[in-house]
Amino acid sequence: MERTFAIIKPDAVASRKAGQILARIEAAGFTVRAMRLQHLTKKEAEGFYAVHRERPFFGGLTDFMSSGPCILLALEKQDAIKAWRTTMGATDPAKADAGTLRKDFGTSIERNATHGSDAPETAAFELGYFFRGMELI
Ligand code: GDP
Repeated sequence: MERTFAIIKPDAVASRKAGQILARIEAAGFTVRAMRLQHLTKKEAEGFYAVHRERPFFGGLTDFMSSGPCILLALEKQDAIKAWRTTMGATDPAKADAGTLRKDFGTSIERNATHGSDAPETAAFELGYFFRGMELI
């Protein structure tokens, strides 16, 4: 079993798609191991996306991620990291495969409904950034 870190981003929470996305997460065979609704501060979003700080979209992305509450998730499944990236689809909803979450709920390359860790090292950092060890037992 592997764990990954996921976010239902502020666009999807604001448009009341969180319930549908959680249902899709369960239908895809993920177990929710931890979950919290949280309105990130700008600083918290900047810390989370620190690897992107030199990118031109960093300011807009961190404004968006701190614009309203999101849902933070620890998901478990065999090969969870890869499986969750497949369930989400490509970063740009316009390029995402049919039936993926970003295709169905994303509205732009920035407002793309969900986040998922892209490798074991990032999953470890991201899970630890948002959840205490006790929450992940
Ligand atoms: P991900 O791993 O698929 O989420 O993609 P990245 O790690 O490359 O980018 C992180 C997040 O930044 C994405 O999920 C988008 O919300 C946003 N993003 C990525 N590329 C762009 C871009 O070219 N323009 C804008 N405005 N946002 C972007």
